[in-house]
Amino acid sequence: MNKSYQNNLPLQESISDEDLKLINGYSQKELTADEIFTFSVILCDNEIDRDFERFTTESLKTLAELFVGRTAIKNHSCNSDDQSARTYKTELVTDEKKKNSLGEPYVYVKAYCYMPRLEKNADFIKEIQAGIKKEVSIGCSVKSSVCSICGNDSKSGACHHKKGRSYKGKLCYFELSEPCDAYEWSFVAVPAQRNAGVTKSFGFVKETDMNDIINTLKNAEGDVALTEKQAREIGGYIDSLTEKARDGEEYRRQLESETVRLFALNMPALSNVSSESICKSLCTEELKQLNVALKEKKQSAEAPQLYREKSKNTDSNTQFRF
Ligand SMILES: [Zn+2]
Repeated sequence: MNKSYQNNLPLQESISDEDLKLINGYSQKELTADEIFTFSVILCDNEIDRDFERFTTESLKTLAELFVGRTAIKNHSCNSDDQSARTYKTELVTDEKKKNSLGEPYVYVKAYCYMPRLEKNADFIKEIQAGIKKEVSIGCSVKSSVCSICGNDSKSGACHHKKGRSYKGKLCYFELSEPCDAYEWSFVAVPAQRNAGVTKSFGFVKETDMNDIINTLKNAEGDVALTEKQAREIGGYIDSLTEKARDGEEYRRQLESETVRLFALNMPALSNVSSESICKSLCTEELKQLNVALKEKKQSAEAPQLYREKSKNTDSNTQFRF
């Protein structure tokens, strides 16, 4: 799974001897403090995230250990040239002053990273210094994901709750625990609206399941942010509804004009204006019933004539024998 976290941590100014020792534990060549650029980031925390999942404090502790030595890349890519920073130390921090949305003290994994001040890293360093790269995306795997409503593991099949939905006023989210691996992490470009911190996005069970998307939107509290894929899905769905609505309108129009015609045949005394206004006042189901009734009436009026036609052309005339 991949997770993103926003960062507002100050840059580190100086490198302690202790840190320099840790860094040199990863470096092939002995580096001096001048040759190194260091910074720190929040890798993950105990807040319910955009996917309506959150790490338990216990799993954050494990993640902090797993992330030591992991590389940080500028973008998600397989190019090894992009692996420009390394996590040399992590710390589990509890901020008693700040509470998460569940009212618990805010707990996060703080990663200390270094980069050699090489030409190829110059732009990356400048961007971090300028504060442009403020969100990190981590990759990790966890063994357990437990529903906040029923306490069942998502993989057990026993939970039928939907993430992000409220059940009797209680939000459904999943608690992630037992992390078993942590992968490289990366800086991601942050869209402006996300920085403002007012948008929420929703954990759709299936991005392409329109019923699920609609239900999630109906149950949304607060602002909604959609992924590009979700927005495209919804756009496509609206297009298909528009087409269906057009077909529906065309059907209704034909049904109205046919019914007006049937009125004229069955009840010549009724004016077209009156029959049109009767048709317009009915719902489609009622109009359909009226149309069928008028057709039947017309047929039964025609029937005797049909039988007469038939009797003329029948030699045996058995139909009318008693
Ligand atoms: Zn559940």
